[in-house]
Amino acid sequence: MESRYRETAFQQVGPDSNDQMSDDEQSICAGRPRRRAPSTDKKHKCLYCSYDTIYITNYKNHLRTHTGEKPFSCNYCVYKTTTKKTLVEHIRTHTGEKPYSCNMCTYGATTKQGLNRHMLIHTGEKPFACKFCPYRAREKSALRNHMLAIHTLKQ
Ligand SMILES: [Zn+2]
Ligand SMILES: [Zn+2]
Ligand SMILES: [Zn+2]
Ligand SMILES: [Zn+2]
Repeated sequence: MESRYRETAFQQVGPDSNDQMSDDEQSICAGRPRRRAPSTDKKHKCLYCSYDTIYITNYKNHLRTHTGEKPFSCNYCVYKTTTKKTLVEHIRTHTGEKPYSCNMCTYGATTKQGLNRHMLIHTGEKPFACKFCPYRAREKSALRNHMLAIHTLKQ
């Protein structure tokens, strides 16, 4: 999914021109006097969409979703990504490192999401419900198996 970033000719507009941008936008406002809320002064506003953030790192990461730039590449395979965080998580699939460990059993996960999914086992939460009977499953794959076995449906 994330490989589908639009590659467009936005390159000539750099983050440096960002400050003027917000001024221009303000003056367009119909008939109202220019007013700048002090809290927006430190914000980095995206030139291409309504995104803004006070963190320059987040801003740079976000801009890459428009430019399609993927400066972080994996040493082990051809994988490239827009943020360091996703690269670090990806590299764990090669190294087998599992920094997210369950505090209720010995399970370890490579990502936060993986651990969250695992925690459902302990909390007993079953988010995947069968449409045809009261059956619920913790994993999507279990629901699929149920559909095949009980209702002989392919999903
Ligand atoms: Zn944007
Ligand atoms: Zn890789
Ligand atoms: Zn556990
Ligand atoms: Zn069912």
